[in-house]
Amino acid sequence: MDDYQLVLEDIADSLRPELGKAGHVASYIPALARVPAAHFGIALRTADGVEAHAGDSTTGFSIQSISKLFTLTLGMQHVGERLWERIGREPSGNPFNSLLQLESEQGIPRNPFINAGAIAVTDRLLHYCDPKRAVLELLSGLCEEPVRFDEEVAASEAETGFRNIALANFMKGFGRIDHDAQTVLDVYFHHCSIRMSCLQLARAAGYLCRDGLHPYSGEPVLTGRQARRVNALMLTCGTYDAAGEFAFRIGLPCKSGVGGGIVAVVPDKLTLCVWSPALEESGNSLLGMKALEMFTARTGLSVF
Ligand code: GLU
Repeated sequence: MDDYQLVLEDIADSLRPELGKAGHVASYIPALARVPAAHFGIALRTADGVEAHAGDSTTGFSIQSISKLFTLTLGMQHVGERLWERIGREPSGNPFNSLLQLESEQGIPRNPFINAGAIAVTDRLLHYCDPKRAVLELLSGLCEEPVRFDEEVAASEAETGFRNIALANFMKGFGRIDHDAQTVLDVYFHHCSIRMSCLQLARAAGYLCRDGLHPYSGEPVLTGRQARRVNALMLTCGTYDAAGEFAFRIGLPCKSGVGGGIVAVVPDKLTLCVWSPALEESGNSLLGMKALEMFTARTGLSVF
């Protein structure tokens, strides 16, 4: 078996000369624009609890769309199968905040990982729980450390989130959103603003490599079938318009965010999180993708 600590340290060392040299940090809000590009962190946790991490693996960053994984998990827990009445599960082939497709498909988002999809899941969740509190409880429970919102990021998301505001109102116009759009968006923006480190995320996503079982307690977070479905959606829809590239180069279910984080799952084996803020054109972390590619090449791990 590979010594994971050594593998992660080798990856961090070999990417160090490239830090901050290429790609662009997300700049649509000041709190993201001022994050220095020259960060790199990587962490993993195996299904049986072995951990390894290197670089800036304990530095908190804005998890952004990685939160859609946990919003979906709450949706599966609370709403069950009826969640799929208003959300599809096909790759969108369109930008993550596109209005066009939503118009031609009568306000039903293609999948839960595009913005409209996460907004629709949030609306359903509001029937069952307080989703702001629920997501923090879920995440804090999963990584056994307190997890918080970054209120500055949440406020900036709300101030500049014109497209998200449009998406929510558009779905409301089609009768696909039950709650007031502003209430749903407040939750959505807060979920995007969650701050966590690579190590916390590698721990928190642990149920996805354990057939739905909690990484520490072993209690079910999701059923095995639900966890497989989350992995399937990550593989097909988790990385903006680069799902094909991820499958080709990396071969693992992944979910990324514009804060530069990517969570990856090797079913039955481990969960991995990388963070480097500079993004390539598809909105995925440039060095994060390279690191995952190096990891799978070195370990031979893949779902294919
Ligand atoms: N907060 C961003 C938005 O809603 C999400 C960005 C992301 O995809 O990570 O536009």
